Amino acid sequence: MSANDKPTHERGKCPACGYIFDCATNVDDATALPKIGDISFCVKCGSANQFDEHGVIAIDESKLDEEARQEIRRIRRAWMKTRGSEYAS
Ligand SMILES: [Zn+2]
Repeated sequence: MSANDKPTHERGKCPACGYIFDCATNVDDATALPKIGDISFCVKCGSANQFDEHGVIAIDESKLDEEARQEIRRIRRAWMKTRGSEYAS
């Protein structure tokens, strides 16, 4: 593990699928630590969630601003490519 892929969050649970993750990485800055209010993207199910003081909570994407929704769509498209055609629509 290099300094650039160090985990930034120790452990959490996706509220959408229950997947237990053992780290989180900022897509723009691998050294950044998640802050309350940051968006979390589940690599297991592709849901967007949000960090709070205890971990991650479900969010309503339609209530985010357009910039955040675009960022989530961009991440989701890249994620779908890593999953293969099984998840692409
Ligand atoms: Zn999930």
